[in-house]
Amino acid sequence: MDPDYLATLSAIVGSAHVLTSADDKATFLTDWRGNFRGEALAVVLPATAQAVAEIVLASQTARIAIVPQGGNTGLVGGSVPSPGRPQIVLALKRLREIRAVDTANRTITVEAGVTLAEVQARAAAVDLLYPVSLAAEGTAQIGGTIATNAGGVQVLRYGNTREQVLGLEAVFPDGRLWEGLQGLRKDNTGYDLKQLLIGSEGTLAVVTAATLRLSARPRQQQVAWAGLSDLAAAARLLTRVLADAGDRVTAFEVVSDVCMTLLANHLSLANPLTEAAPWNVLIEWSDPNPDAPLKDWVERVLSAAFEAGEIGDVVIAQSEGQAAALWSLREHTPEAEKRHGKAVKHDISLPVSAIPEFVRTTDALLAAAFPGALIVNFGHLGDGNLHYNLTGRTGADATAIYAASASVNAIVYDQVAKFGGSISAEHGLGQLKREVIAHYKPAVALDAMRAIKAAIDPHHLFNPGKVL
Ligand SMILES: Cc1cc2nc3c(=O)[nH]c(=O)nc-3n(C[C@H](O)[C@H](O)[C@H](O)COP(=O)(O)OP(=O)(O)OC[C@H]3O[C@@H](n4cnc5c(N)ncnc54)[C@H](O)[C@@H]3O)c2cc1C
Repeated sequence: MDPDYLATLSAIVGSAHVLTSADDKATFLTDWRGNFRGEALAVVLPATAQAVAEIVLASQTARIAIVPQGGNTGLVGGSVPSPGRPQIVLALKRLREIRAVDTANRTITVEAGVTLAEVQARAAAVDLLYPVSLAAEGTAQIGGTIATNAGGVQVLRYGNTREQVLGLEAVFPDGRLWEGLQGLRKDNTGYDLKQLLIGSEGTLAVVTAATLRLSARPRQQQVAWAGLSDLAAAARLLTRVLADAGDRVTAFEVVSDVCMTLLANHLSLANPLTEAAPWNVLIEWSDPNPDAPLKDWVERVLSAAFEAGEIGDVVIAQSEGQAAALWSLREHTPEAEKRHGKAVKHDISLPVSAIPEFVRTTDALLAAAFPGALIVNFGHLGDGNLHYNLTGRTGADATAIYAASASVNAIVYDQVAKFGGSISAEHGLGQLKREVIAHYKPAVALDAMRAIKAAIDPHHLFNPGKVL
């Protein structure tokens, strides 16, 4: 390594913002789940886009690779260094400015290190909504949510992060800053660079700022929790509520009865239904018009679903507190699963119409291969996205199943491929799925991705060992 490299970084950001001791670097080098740990020459914390550009240029000259890092809440090991070559972690958390709020254009322009929750709060302060919402929103940063094309619980109504981004500012591997923050809803001037960077997991450019679309803020919400006998009924119910209320349906989540047992056992969270059912669905409706008869519509569609035999017992939240308690069951499911023990996790998506048959046949294959294992199945059914995980009945069984991850993955991912799905719905590939994607993505698509990477980042400066 060029002995002047770290001195150059210190000159750019100040020596206090170039962390080199093991203690100072530790939290930046381990991922949220503790599954990936890497090494870095330093953790560098710039405060401006210009400083990011200078760091990239210095690193390009020294051929030191860069791992961009936001809130480090990613679940696939993308934000920590992978083994193989000297790297720095480029932590964006000091890029904290909210540069502009344009209420007439319904946009907000923020720097990469602003957290998702802060953007939501700033939008709410001008009576608008930034609709991307996920359990890690207090820590995940806008740059990270763009780099992963984060989804969350309101994709059904508002789309993924991809649908919210109107403009980007980013630094390319040659150190040039691209100022693309126009905030336009229409711009057909050739290849859409921002869409290429969204979801690229830090492998093509470092996002330094974004202009985001804001939506009308809901002024009333209804949340219901219902029991169902199977996922075919859930799919029929989804069709029914969408036909009835269209865009007013903001979330449609499913939680299996196995998850309800884990919630009760590990977090003392009780089932709101008098009679437990094999499946539970949480539905949220919202409306920007405070006078719309939303509650009447919800009661009408749920009674029709009950009469059609789609749902059994049902609870409609009577207050914001009750709505939050119902959401809390869904949001605490990953935590209850974590407390239970190790699990082989899958973040998959399928056409909604294929989900009941996928689950029926994959459940059977897993039961045959791993007798007694627990299938922990929950997720955003409205988006065709399931967190379809396998664990053991006891902690020891769970550890044994985790050790057989490769066999579990082969069963689940082969089934996903058979039913026309994706092996990564919203978390990305990172290090976790870098190898396995080669089996499930067509060669022509992978070759095109490699060609794009080689053209933009020929020396593999950005996030080596991730995605490809
Ligand atoms: C409890 C919990 C719940 C979650 N729920 C959801 C969910 O519902 N939906 C969902 O989609 N995800 C979810 N996630 C995953 C995670 O929160 C998202 O992937 C999030 O977008 C990551 O943001 P981050 O700032 O933490 O990024 P990081 O983890 O720091 O980084 C993620 C990737 O983006 C790259 N990156 C980060 N910042 C930049 C930048 N400025 N420029 C270029 N590349 C960058 C990194 O190199 C890495 O590859 C959840 C995570 C947790 C812990």
